[in-house]
Amino acid sequence: MSSGDLPATVDVVVIGAGAVGAACAYFLARDGFSVHVVERGQIASGTSGACEGNVLVSDKEAGPELDLALYSLGVWNGELAEFGELWEFEPKGGFVAAATPAGAAALRDLGVRQRAAGVEAVDVAAADVHTYEPCITDGLTAAAYYPQDAQVQPMLLTAHLLRLARGHGAGVSTGVTATGLSVDPRSGTGERRVTVVRTSRGTISCDQVVNATGTWAGELAAMAGVEVPVLPRRGFVLVTEPLPRTIHHKVYAAEYVASTQSSDGALQTSTVIEGTRAGTILIGSSRERVGFDRTVSLPAMREIAGKALALFPALARTRILRCYHGFRPYCPDHLPVIGHDARAPGLWHAGGHEGAGIGLSVGTAKLLAQSMAGLRTDLDLTPFAPARFSEVAVDAC
Ligand SMILES: Cc1cc2nc3c(=O)[nH]c(=O)nc-3n(C[C@H](O)[C@H](O)[C@H](O)COP(=O)(O)OP(=O)(O)OC[C@H]3O[C@@H](n4cnc5c(N)ncnc54)[C@H](O)[C@@H]3O)c2cc1C
Repeated sequence: MSSGDLPATVDVVVIGAGAVGAACAYFLARDGFSVHVVERGQIASGTSGACEGNVLVSDKEAGPELDLALYSLGVWNGELAEFGELWEFEPKGGFVAAATPAGAAALRDLGVRQRAAGVEAVDVAAADVHTYEPCITDGLTAAAYYPQDAQVQPMLLTAHLLRLARGHGAGVSTGVTATGLSVDPRSGTGERRVTVVRTSRGTISCDQVVNATGTWAGELAAMAGVEVPVLPRRGFVLVTEPLPRTIHHKVYAAEYVASTQSSDGALQTSTVIEGTRAGTILIGSSRERVGFDRTVSLPAMREIAGKALALFPALARTRILRCYHGFRPYCPDHLPVIGHDARAPGLWHAGGHEGAGIGLSVGTAKLLAQSMAGLRTDLDLTPFAPARFSEVAVDAC
């Protein structure tokens, strides 16, 4: 994917070639901007290459994130539907299982709120759960089926979005680190703007910069003298040997929704399990705030495996082939940062999507492209505004 020299000037430099940066490059290039992507590693070498590919509405409470998820779903199923095969888009549906009476009540209540927000959520009686998931454990108290939930292969997604962006004239340079941003007075107006991206291979002049550096977004923002508090939340995934189809939907335990919204720094696990086209089963999930610690955590893996077995006892003799981990980019309020940063004119953010950045990538990018073009956005971006973290512009560069 690496192209040769950097361009001297473009309309937009996108920094970061994960799913979000790739989607931004695609929508911006398609909408007529000249775009260049710089990535310090390889394509999808950040969290987008160390995650699962769920495109979920089911795990979101009513509110701005769910609105963005529903909007993104419309993009996946609408203008991007023709490319779905490229990234293995599979509308497999989500299945959420409750094991206690309290869990069942919470699941029902969540469904009511979600339906009011436009989600299709089907209450499933305990007696009917095996119709949906024949191998799931007995003794569940209730379940819910979410036909809109889907899955993609995140690395294929990222690579193909960039390839499609290149088809619209975008350039992509891998192995190039953004090392600084110049914030200068614009000739004529005197307005101070981000005008240059300095990289390990030279500089690019531009009108706009998109910070799509995922979990590292805070470092990039600091180069323009502004604070964006995106932090890492580590998660492990276990990968089984390939099996005949055992899990039919994206299946997870009802308490998973609470764990996604929790700000607890300690290890949290709740079962999330799904099959892939290759036959392997992906088993998650864990969440813990340990910085960028890459140490393999046996306690986390043991908890994940134990809870998955409780939900699917049929996996008892299944072998785990490998495990991997990634760092979810999270903001303290669990909402992404999307849009222009008025504290550093010319700088845009698209990141901080925590455990939902694959699913939300395309909606985020389409909205960002609309906003950059000066159009009214299809969805109000105010809840995601970068300035919510601090009203103070830092004049550091
Ligand atoms: C275990 C786990 C499971 C997950 N499961 C799901 C799921 O099922 N569904 C879902 O939607 N989301 C899921 N997520 C979350 C999802 O992976 C992330 O939200 C998403 O990948 C973030 O994408 P991104 O493009 O913002 O960041 P990244 O993919 O991390 O991309 C950022 C890129 O920026 C580059 N970069 C950083 N700094 C610089 C610099 N200075 N110069 C140049 N390049 C730079 C990095 O190298 C990186 O490639 C999961 C995450 C984890 C950890």
